[in-house]
Amino acid sequence: MNISSFHTHTWLCKHASGKPEDYVAQAALDGCSALGISDHCPYPDPTWSGSRMELSQLPEYLNLVTAAQEKASFPLFWGFECEWHPAYESWYRDFLRAEMGAEYLVYGSHWVEENGEFWYIPEYPGAQRLIRYTEMTVRGIQSGLYDFIAHPDIFLAGYPKLTDTIRSACRDIIYAAVDANLPMEINGLGLTRTPLIGDSGPRAPYPVREFWEMAADAGATIICNSDAHRPEDVLTLAHGARAFAKEIGVSVQDPAEVLPFVRASDKTEIS
Ligand SMILES: [Zn+2]
Ligand SMILES: [Zn+2]
Repeated sequence: MNISSFHTHTWLCKHASGKPEDYVAQAALDGCSALGISDHCPYPDPTWSGSRMELSQLPEYLNLVTAAQEKASFPLFWGFECEWHPAYESWYRDFLRAEMGAEYLVYGSHWVEENGEFWYIPEYPGAQRLIRYTEMTVRGIQSGLYDFIAHPDIFLAGYPKLTDTIRSACRDIIYAAVDANLPMEINGLGLTRTPLIGDSGPRAPYPVREFWEMAADAGATIICNSDAHRPEDVLTLAHGARAFAKEIGVSVQDPAEVLPFVRASDKTEIS
C-alpha cells in the first residue's frame, strides 16, 4: 500500500518541532512512498508572523529541504502552506513559486479579513463572517495558485451545528474545488483535537463527516494528509485520516497518485 503525505511542517513556523530530515527519517521507518514538506510560508510584512517562518529564514528552509532530499529514500517534495489574499497573489506566484522554486503550494484558508483585520475563523465564527470567509476561500480556490486544499472544512470547528447557511458554505467550497479540479484534503491533525458537540453528538472539530459526504457526492478528488507538526506524526495522522474516511464510507486516493506535480516529476515512478 502506498502511503504519502504532502502536509508537513518544521520548527521554523514557531509552533511545530523538528527539521525536514527528522520527518524524513521517521517517514522512512513508517514505510513512506512519497513526502511533501509544506511549512507555513513567510510573508513580506508582519501579517501572521506569530505562526510562520521569518522571511530571513527562507534560505535556511531551502537548505534544510535540500539536505533532506539528499537523504530521503523516497521522493521528497517541498513547498509551502499559504493563505489567500489578493494582496499576496504575486508573492505566491512570482516569488515563492517562480523565484524560490517551490514545487507546490497548499491552500490553507484559516483567516478572514474584515475591516482590515484578520480573524481566525475557527475561533471567531459568526454568520456574517462565514459569508466573507466562504467568498474569500472560493476566490482562493479559483486563483489557480494552489495544488490542493488543506482541511477545507476547518471552519466547521467554529460552527458545531450545521444549519442551512453552513451547509451552503460547505457546498460553495466543495463545488469551487470540483470546478477548479483541486484535490481536497482530509486532515489527520484535526482528528486529534478536542472534540466538540455536533448535531449528532461528539465529533472532531474537523474533519466533519457531513462535509466529506457532500464532497464525495459532488465527485471531489479526496486525499488524506497528516498536517504533521511533530516528526512522530509524519504519517500516522494520514493513516488516521484514511481510517476516518473508511469509517464514513468515503473513498480517497493517495496524494502522490493524484497530485499533478508529483506525477509530472521525474522523482517518482509511483506504481
Ligand atoms: Zn501549523
Ligand atoms: Zn492549516
